[in-house]
Amino acid sequence: MTAEPTHIRIAGIVRESIVDGAGLRFVVFGQGCPHRCPGCHNPQTHDFQGGSLVSISSIIAEIRKNPLLRGVTFSGGEPFSQIEPFAALAKQVRALPGKLDITVYSGYTFEELAALPGAEKLLGLCDYLVDGPFLLAERDLSLKFRGSRNQRYLDLNRSRLAGRPVPAAEQPPLSPRRFAPKSAFSRLG
Ligand code: SF4
Repeated sequence: MTAEPTHIRIAGIVRESIVDGAGLRFVVFGQGCPHRCPGCHNPQTHDFQGGSLVSISSIIAEIRKNPLLRGVTFSGGEPFSQIEPFAALAKQVRALPGKLDITVYSGYTFEELAALPGAEKLLGLCDYLVDGPFLLAERDLSLKFRGSRNQRYLDLNRSRLAGRPVPAAEQPPLSPRRFAPKSAFSRLG
C-alpha cells in the first residue's frame, strides 16, 4: 500500500475569495498545467517545476484559522495533474469541522475526467467542478466563477446521482470581510 502524500506543489493560496466558487472560500492554486490555454490568467502556474512544495498540514492549518469559510477551492494550474496530493488534501478538508464544501477547477471536461485514469479518486471527494479549458474566443466577463462560455459549473453530487453532468445553482456569495482577487497569490511558509 502506498503512503498518502504529505506535500503538494502549489503556485499559492488565497485565504478569502468570492470569485472561485460559491460563498467565502479558501483557494489552493496547484502548480503545473499541461493545457496551455491561450490567454490563461495564471501562466505562472504552468511550469511543473515552479511554485513551492508545501506540506498539506500547513494548508490545513491555514484553513482552520477562518471559521467564516464556506468551502475550499482547488484551482490551477491543473489539480488533476496532482491527483494523489489533492485527494489527500481533500480528505483532510472533509475531516474538518464545519462541513466545508470543495470546488475543483480543471482544464479537462467532465467527460474527459471520467476517462482519465485515477481522476475519480479526487473527483469523488469534490462537490462542484468548473470544467474545460479557458477559450479566448468564448471569454465572457459576466460569467460567475468561469472565464469562458464553454466552461460549466457543475454540481458533482447531483451529477453522480443523475449519471450525467448537472449544472450547479449559482448561490449568491456571502459578504466577505475582505476580498482577494484571483491573481493575488500568497505563499505559505
Ligand atoms: S487549464 Fe487553467 S491554468 Fe491551465 S492553461 Fe488553461 S486556463 Fe491556464
